[in-house]
Amino acid sequence: MGRRATKLLDDAKRFLVGGVNSPVRAFRQVGQEPLVLVRGQGVWVTDAQGRQFLDFILGWGSLILGHVHPRVVRAVRRQVANSAMLGLTHPAEVHLAEAIAEAFPSIGKVRFTPSGTEACMTAIRLARAYTGRSKILTFEGCYHGHSDGVLVKRGPACAASGATMESAAGRSGLATLGLAKSGGVPEAIAQETIVISYNDLEALDEAITRYGAQLACAILEPVAANMGVIAPHHEFLQRLREVTKQRDILLIFDEVVTGFRVAYGGAQTLFGITPDLTVLGKIIGGGFPIGAVGGPWHLMQRLAPEGEVYHAGTFAGHPVTMAAGLATLDELKRESPYGALESLGGRLAQGLLTAASTAHIPIHVNQVGSMLTVFFSEGPVTHLASAQHANATRFATFANVLRKEGILIPPSPFEAMFLSTAHTQEHIDRVIDVASGALAQVS
Ligand SMILES: *Cc1c(COP(=O)(O)O)cnc(C)c1O
Repeated sequence: MGRRATKLLDDAKRFLVGGVNSPVRAFRQVGQEPLVLVRGQGVWVTDAQGRQFLDFILGWGSLILGHVHPRVVRAVRRQVANSAMLGLTHPAEVHLAEAIAEAFPSIGKVRFTPSGTEACMTAIRLARAYTGRSKILTFEGCYHGHSDGVLVKRGPACAASGATMESAAGRSGLATLGLAKSGGVPEAIAQETIVISYNDLEALDEAITRYGAQLACAILEPVAANMGVIAPHHEFLQRLREVTKQRDILLIFDEVVTGFRVAYGGAQTLFGITPDLTVLGKIIGGGFPIGAVGGPWHLMQRLAPEGEVYHAGTFAGHPVTMAAGLATLDELKRESPYGALESLGGRLAQGLLTAASTAHIPIHVNQVGSMLTVFFSEGPVTHLASAQHANATRFATFANVLRKEGILIPPSPFEAMFLSTAHTQEHIDRVIDVASGALAQVS
C-alpha cells in the first residue's frame, strides 16, 4: 500500500469507530480491513490506491443504475443549483411521491424520511397507534434499521423453545456478537418484540395464537436480503397475509431493498400480495439518503399534521435526494430493465453453480432477479439458522480472492450481491471466470 493510502486507513481507524460508519464496512466478517473507496463510475469503483473493482455492493443495493448515471447526475446538478435545501414543500417530492403511488397499488400517500431506519420506525409507530396495541412480530434475519424495537433477536415466543439467539446478521453485526439484543435496548422494549423464524408456518400460527390480540403489526422483508438473499415461500406469505387480516394486525412490507428492484412495483407486485403499509428506501433515493412510508389514505392520515402520530424531519423530502430518486424511477419506468436484470442474475447464479460443481465445493445460490447470495452450504437456505449453518471460512476465502482479482462483493455471508443496469454479460462472465479460480482455492 502507498503511503497516502496507508495514512488514510490509519486515520480512518483513528477518527472513526472501527474505521467505518456502519459495521459491515469494517470487513471483519472476512477478516480484512476497511476498504477506502474514492470514486465510482458505472459498475466500477476505485480505491485510495488506485485499484479498480467490479462493484457488486452498489451502495448496498441503492444504485440500480450503477454509479454516476448521467440522468441522475443531471437532475442532481440542476437541483443543487436551485438550492440543495429548501425546507418546505417543493416539486420534486410531490413528483416522487406520485411516481411511488403509481408504482405501488397499496400506496395512496407517502411520507418521506432521511433513512430506511426512520421509515420502519414510523411505520411501526403508526401501526401501534392505529391498532391500539403494542407488540410487534418480526422475523429472524430480517433487518429493519437500527431503532430499539427491531434490534431484538429473540422475543419471549421463542425463548421457550430454547432456540439459539441470533440476529439480522448483516448490518447490525449482532450475530457476530452472539447477543439477544443490541446493547442499550431497554428490556421493556425488547419484551414488545416477538421474533420468529422466516418461512416457518408453524411458528407463525403459534405466535398468532399466543400474541394475536396484542400485535400491532407484523413486519418483514418480502424477499430477505439481510441474512443473504432468501425468498419467501408463497404459502408463508399468503398465510401471513391471511392471519394478519383475520386478527386486525397490520402487515408491513419492508421493501427498502426490494422496492423498484425485484419489480417496478416491488415484491408485493411480483408476488401479488398486498400489505397494509410499505416501507421503501435505497433505490428511491438514487444514491442519496432516504426512506419512505406508504399506504392507503385511512392509515397514512394518522400521521402528523393530519393525525396524532408524530413524525418530522429537517431533511425529510430533501430536494437533492428527491431529484435523484425521481430521475432513477423515470429511467427504470422508461427502460423497464427487470427482464434483463433477471436473466443476468440467472446467468450469474448458473455460472457459479457450474463452477462450484467443477471444483467439488457444495454451494447454494439464492437469486431473486438482480439480487443474489452464494451460500457455502450443503442444503438449501430458507431461514436464518440455515444461513448461519453455511461455511463462513469458505465464504471469506471466496470473497477475499475475488477482491484480490478486482471483484468486489459484500464482505459478509449475510448480504446480497446486487446487479445494476450497468452490468453486462461480459461483466458477469468475468465474475464466473474469476469465481472458478476462487472456488478452487476454497477447499
Ligand atoms: C437498509 C435497510 C434498512 C435501513 O435503511 P437505512 O437507510 O440504512 O436506515 C431497512 N430495511 C431494510 C430491508 C434494509 O435493507
